[in-house]
This record gives sequence, structure tokens and C-alpha cells, in this order.
Amino acid sequence: MTTQPATAPSSANPDEFNPFLSMAEEFDRAADHLGLDEGLREVLRTPNRELKVSLPVMMDDGHIKVFTGYRVQHNYLRGPCKGGIRFAPEVNLDEVRALAAWMTWKCSVVNIPFGGGKGGVICDPRTMSMKELEQLTRRYTAAIMDILGPDRDVPAPDMNTGEQTMAWIMDTYSMHVRSTTTAIVTGKPLSIGGSRGRREATGRGVMISANEALKMKGLRPEDTRVVVQGSGNVGGIGAMLMHRQGYRIVSLSDMYGSIYNDSGLDVNAVLSYLEDNGRLEGFPEAESMKNAEQLELDCEMIVPAATENQITSQNVDRIKAQLIVEGANGPTTAMAARILDDRGVIIVPDILANAGGVTVSYFEWVQDRMGYFWTEEVVNSRLEQIMVNSFQEVAETATKNSISLRAAAYIVAIDRVATVYRLRGMFA
Ligand code: GLU
Repeated sequence: MTTQPATAPSSANPDEFNPFLSMAEEFDRAADHLGLDEGLREVLRTPNRELKVSLPVMMDDGHIKVFTGYRVQHNYLRGPCKGGIRFAPEVNLDEVRALAAWMTWKCSVVNIPFGGGKGGVICDPRTMSMKELEQLTRRYTAAIMDILGPDRDVPAPDMNTGEQTMAWIMDTYSMHVRSTTTAIVTGKPLSIGGSRGRREATGRGVMISANEALKMKGLRPEDTRVVVQGSGNVGGIGAMLMHRQGYRIVSLSDMYGSIYNDSGLDVNAVLSYLEDNGRLEGFPEAESMKNAEQLELDCEMIVPAATENQITSQNVDRIKAQLIVEGANGPTTAMAARILDDRGVIIVPDILANAGGVTVSYFEWVQDRMGYFWTEEVVNSRLEQIMVNSFQEVAETATKNSISLRAAAYIVAIDRVATVYRLRGMFA
């Protein structure tokens, strides 16, 4: 049985909101285009390994609570599995499976030598103390560590996890193997083997993707009103970097609501307001609105940088933007994307647009293994080179075949994994 994310409204077809089915639909379309035979499709569609673990944690009030965690390794043909760990109440196996598969395609589309994996723990971090989060993280790491390793599976931050979480994972793993192993995880603090530029990398990649997409529409940043859904590591930093490039950021949101100013927000001021107040609502130079209305604002570009299933059959007819740059994983359902494609809206798909994070994770892993660290300029210019080249390769494939950027990105990614499979052959 499959479980649906909590976001599916009762009037919707639940399959539309199942991210694994959305991913499979895109996969099948690309596989048809590539003429992959049924056996190879089956191999590439099926996750290599799925682990479910129970995690007892002593809570601060003295009672024991058992949490559930997952780690899915979708595919390790191109290298160690790579992908984040999220802590959220809605985590479920289908979601983690989809996210793991998206990591396989993401690493492949930017051609970094990793497969795809993802982890998740069902919990509500907002209601937990630092001590409880540390216990949970350590217990989760210990529970999945048989399948982890710098050459096997290298986690990273995702929703509600960050540098501190990665430091605990690194320490727990290192204590078990009796040796400090920085390359076990990426997105670490700088002082324990993190990379310069990693914190901003996903947002920077989003900005680079937006710049490339803009050229396709012949627009300039100063003529581009941008609605950013989210204000965290991807949305907040992406908005800040885009604001610096001259884009007019007209709206940002958090879990409580959205703020809007058609003349453009001072993003640095918004982010420091958020830091001081814990929410965007009440920011002086903007009006407040409900999150449901935000994506329907009059604008040229939307950057959905929060979570899955935000642009769906339920609101797609009211979307006005001509450009969508997917900062989050899976923010547009396959059904909504089809409708937007027909309307000529350009969507830079998640597996390309948000690949900046995993690309600098790759740089972090390389630096840890070399024990030699790069300057921020080197990191940023290598990131830019990879993002621009990958974008161009995807855009050329799209133009050549008269297909969307998303379909083209899947074709580039799947073809690369299929080539490796054919060369390596089947172990039996
Ligand atoms: N969680 C991020 C993503 O979805 C980063 C993964 C990584 O750096 O391994 O791409």
C-alpha cells in the first residue's frame, strides 16, 4: 500500500499527489523516448535498497518515544549514493523513495559521480529540544550505519536538518569506526571539514538557473518580478542572491504566511526581520497574505522553494508566471507541469535547478578526501561552470526534440545511468 502526503486535498486525485508516481511518470516518458527495453527500465525504476528503522529516544520528560526512520538507496551505479536526510511529520516511504530517485537523476544531470539516496525520520522538530534532536540523530545514524560510508552512501542536510545535524552524524559514525571520517556526510560546519560556499550553494544554483532561463524569454533581471515560496536555505538565500543580481523579489513566504510588495522587497532586511521575529508576518514594508494566494500573484517568475505538490491541478489555472524555477524537490505535480508546458511556461526542473547543493556537496566530499580545501571563489566558479554547462546541455536536448526542459533533463540523466549499466553489465 502507498501512503499519500498530507497535502492532497480531498477533491484531488490522490495519485497526482504521490511523488513516487509523479517521478515514475516522468521516468517512463524519458524511457520511451530513449527506447529503453523493459528489463533496463525495471532496473532503473526500482530502488536498490530500502531500510526502515525504529529509533527509541529518551525524551526530556523521561518517557521513551519510538520514532520511525528510512534510508532509501535508489541507485548506486554511478557512485556512492548521495542525498539528504529530512526530519518532518509528513515523511513517508513513497516520499523518500521519490526523493531518492530524484537524487539519482539530479547527480546524473550535472554529471557528478554519485548515485541517489535519501533519508527521512517522522518527527516534528519544532516540538523537540536540541537534546532530543541530538539523541534522535545519533540513534538514526547508528541504525543505518551498516549501509553508510564515504564510498557507499553519503548523507547531507535536507528539510529541517542542517550543519549541526551533520556534525552529530559525522561524530556518531566516526566514534563507531574509531576514526574521524569527515567524508561520511556533507553540509558540515566549516571547522569540521565543511566546504566554503556549501550553505549558499543551492540558492546560488537556483540563481544561475534563473539567469539562464531568463535568456530563453529575452528578459532582464530588473524587468523580472519574482515570487519566492519559502525563505530558508534555498528560498531565502536564492532570493538574496537574485536580489543582488537586480531581480525584483516581490514576495517571500514562510510556514505561517506570505509578504508582498510589488515594487520589490529589500531581501536582506526581510531576512534579518525573519531572524529576529521568527516569522515574516508584520514586516513593515509589505502587505501580508495567505500562502494559498501567493503563487497566483502577478509576476514573471515563481521560485517554489519549500516542498512538494505546490503547483497542482488545483491551482495551475490561476498561475500567471511565465517562468518557474524549481528550488524545492517536486513542487510541481506531473499533471500541472503538463498543463503549464502546453501554455508555453518554461519550467526549470528541480533535478537541474536545485542541483547546486549536491554539486558543492560533491566538492566537499572531494576536499575531505584530499584533505585540501578550496577558496570560496574556486568553489563558486566551479559550481557556475557545472550549472551553466548542464543547463545548456538540457536546453539543447529540449530544443532538438521539441520537448520541455523537464523531459530533456530526465533524458540526459537516464541516458547517462543507462550507459553505465550497459558498460558495467549485470552482476549475477
Ligand atoms: N538535500 C539536498 C537535495 O535535495 C542536498 C543533497 C546533498 O547535498 O547530498 O539536493
